[in-house]
Amino acid sequence: MTAIAEAVRAGELPGRVWMYSNYHCNLACSYCLTESAPKVSKRELTSEAMIGVAHDAADLGFTALGVTGGEPFLLPDMAHRLAELGSILPTVGLTNGTLFTGRRLDAAEELAGTDVALQISLDSADPDVNDAARGPENFAKVVAAIPALVERGVTVRIATTGQDPDAVAAARLCALHRDLGVPDEDHVVRPIINRGRAAEAGMGVDVTESDLPAELTVTADGAFWSPFGPTVVAGQLDTDLLLTRTTVPLRVPAQTLLGLLQGRPAGADSTLNIR
Ligand code: SF4
Repeated sequence: MTAIAEAVRAGELPGRVWMYSNYHCNLACSYCLTESAPKVSKRELTSEAMIGVAHDAADLGFTALGVTGGEPFLLPDMAHRLAELGSILPTVGLTNGTLFTGRRLDAAEELAGTDVALQISLDSADPDVNDAARGPENFAKVVAAIPALVERGVTVRIATTGQDPDAVAAARLCALHRDLGVPDEDHVVRPIINRGRAAEAGMGVDVTESDLPAELTVTADGAFWSPFGPTVVAGQLDTDLLLTRTTVPLRVPAQTLLGLLQGRPAGADSTLNIR
């Protein structure tokens, strides 16, 4: 057994490895960690690179994968990529859920019955509140896409980003996600993090590395501590949580991360529910 596998089994190292497939997005949310928008630098990982990371992760003893961006489904082969990743390790793919019509919805059917879950952002049961942060028509597109995916057999989770919604608003949102076919255990609520565009707008909670899950995160620019590490401010990539510029082989950043974690008690990584 590798040292990585032992550390994952002991709870010293989180089992999930994240990949930023790309940084561009069809939206430009007010709190976006990566300042994503249609015309930003794409910083793409190739399909081959992602599959390579997945095989390395499995060989090292990691137990799960995550894909985020930007909006991963702007890459036309993303459903197929996710299906391939899911055949290697259980995978969650984060998406804004606004692109699942026509060919992209048909392509997503490949995810039915696989070990892949799509985690779709939905911040409020009130369309105006949701769309104020995420853009016009976002609510309508998301509430159309979720049941369409669920009907096709795709596992869907919902992620809500926001600050302390009141009890009534929270209950309305939970009633909505249940109506859309997503059970309570697949709904996660997390705070806005004061990085990226949120930091420029003075929004969100301040965090240090000890607040962030130490999940190894691979991007086109290097490997980071946490998927909340490779953020962008004023067009510049943050490097405060950069582990290594080297990502191949994956054991290089994995061993660097493990070295930083040794001595921390198991489970002492995150309390912010931002996995
Ligand atoms: S928060 Fe997500 S959906 Fe919104 S702009 Fe950023 S990457 Fe796109």
